[in-house]
Amino acid sequence: MNEADSGEPSPPTLGTCVGRALRLKCPACGQHKMFRNWITMVDPCPACGRKFDRAPGYLLGSIYINYGVTAFLIVVLYFGLFLSKSLTGSQLLWVLSGLGLLFPLWFFRYARALWIAFDERWDPWPNDEERRSMANEAKPSGIE
Ligand SMILES: [Zn+2]
Repeated sequence: MNEADSGEPSPPTLGTCVGRALRLKCPACGQHKMFRNWITMVDPCPACGRKFDRAPGYLLGSIYINYGVTAFLIVVLYFGLFLSKSLTGSQLLWVLSGLGLLFPLWFFRYARALWIAFDERWDPWPNDEERRSMANEAKPSGIE
């Protein structure tokens, strides 16, 4: 179903979402930064209202991205440095151990932004369940 069929805007393309995530911008509108500082998210997006932390535990999925990218980087660097014989075994261990500790800390915001961007592409906010939940919250209390 596209925009003409449903009357709703279609989700941004994967490339658009990933580009916005790599700039740490809201994947839905691309207008506002997702982070106030190194670790604090701006939630929801002040520009479009997109909720970034959709449910308890939702953002834990970004750990898979962070782990995967870190592991891939270390494996590639290990073989690259090992085969080039530019470092001794001990130096290689220290360099890659340091990278394994520091890279995920630096990449944390990007992993979260990518997780939210992939989600925005394949399950745009708000989905039907979230729409119903927001409609129920908007009802005055006492009315069923
Ligand atoms: Zn936004």
